Amino acid sequence: MSGIFGVISKNNCNEILFYGTDYHSHLGTEYGGMATLAGNFTRHIHDISQTQFKSKFFEDYRKMEGNKGIGVISALEEQPIYLNSKFGPFCIVTNGLIENASEIAVELMKKGHSFTEVSKDGANATELIAKLISQGQNIIEGIEMMFDLIRGSCSLLILHEDGIYVARDRCGYTPLIVGQRDDAIAITSETCAFTNLNFNIIKYMEPGEIILINENGMTEKRKGRKTNQVCAFLWIYTGFPASSYEGINVETVRERCGRFLAKHDTDIKVDVVSGVPDSGIAHAIGYAMESGKPYRRPLVKYTPGYGRSYTPPSQEKRDLVAKMKLIAIKEIIEGNRIIVCEDSIVRGTQLKNFTIKKLWDAGAKEVHVRPACPPLMFPCRFNLSTRSINELAARRAIRSIEGHDLEDVHEYIDNKTDKYKKMVDWTANDLEVTTLRYQAIDDMVKAIGLPKERLCLYCWTGECPSCDKPCNKTSKTEKGVA
Ligand code: SF4
Repeated sequence: MSGIFGVISKNNCNEILFYGTDYHSHLGTEYGGMATLAGNFTRHIHDISQTQFKSKFFEDYRKMEGNKGIGVISALEEQPIYLNSKFGPFCIVTNGLIENASEIAVELMKKGHSFTEVSKDGANATELIAKLISQGQNIIEGIEMMFDLIRGSCSLLILHEDGIYVARDRCGYTPLIVGQRDDAIAITSETCAFTNLNFNIIKYMEPGEIILINENGMTEKRKGRKTNQVCAFLWIYTGFPASSYEGINVETVRERCGRFLAKHDTDIKVDVVSGVPDSGIAHAIGYAMESGKPYRRPLVKYTPGYGRSYTPPSQEKRDLVAKMKLIAIKEIIEGNRIIVCEDSIVRGTQLKNFTIKKLWDAGAKEVHVRPACPPLMFPCRFNLSTRSINELAARRAIRSIEGHDLEDVHEYIDNKTDKYKKMVDWTANDLEVTTLRYQAIDDMVKAIGLPKERLCLYCWTGECPSCDKPCNKTSKTEKGVA
């Protein structure tokens, strides 16, 4: 996943841009980039896979000038992209994934376009989007043409002499929020970027909405759609606790998730409630509040410097981070019956090898695992995560129960069926835990607090959100049920 940030200020915007962009560091680990405009563009891009954004950009930002700028933390490609076009030069940052990027790139090349940037998967999607937009009669028309052509998700910021053009993707999978303070107006993927920079939220953008922000304030260029399908995973895992999307704070949703988990556990006796750091903690706090059992920390994370174990792109690196970052506290574990709240179970291997095993090794009496969301059945259709379908713990369970992969898994999705129970039992056995109980999908939706139809739940249900383009291009089968 990527995060984007932009600001227009009465003064030099470099410091706001630097810190505002840095507050998206939890989303990506590959590239960081910033651009400002003061007559000419200044642009810096660095590989941040081995180091923090702040240390890489500290010298750059102090030399950057201009009252307007954009920044990005990107999990996939180098950004911002600079392009000269018939409506003048611009820099662009994007967040999302274009499913038909290769097809579009081939079509553009047939028409004589060339590409200068490459990403790990071939064409740099941000450059592709820049080229598509540049074919419009103006920037707004270019963005709309691009929205019409792409299949997938794309929110973006365009830094131009007019100001910053801001567009939220049409289905609204990724959020964009506008904030204001006396001397500046800013746009962010994560509202946690606003708090310490003293911005007040003035608008949660709507799907498909396009605005221009500049020295005159905010101008609506295209109205948004009232429907959206915002990613439910933002609240469960990927979002930062201090952030809000659609006006709903992440930490409070996680606490409600934990409360729902506890409500179904009246038959379990426990001594300690814990969460896998960091995103499992708020779920555990909610569980502890509901159950009245003490929240304690049998496993502590050595340093936030290890980051999140899903963000490094290689499994080997993710496993190393997962192994090293958690340290068990024997004095809290030994002889105790422990609830372990986790945001989700993806492959289950890290949870088993680097969390549960540490609890058993330190003398836990019982280990009860409580994921805050239902079993993951499908990878993100927009590649907002690193998992593939065959790696998912639930799919491994189904393969083992059935003897082969299943294309139609609806019986395993319904938590009232025997097949669902078998799948959970198989996974509990595989994880080597005393009990395993997943969150029910309706409880997760209630915890978030938006109507079901306004959430993307594809990871759990396989149902494509109802955007204005058919989603069957990435059906369950095409994602590769082997
Ligand atoms: S498919 Fe999953 S991760 Fe991707 S946007 Fe939908 S809920 Fe989020």
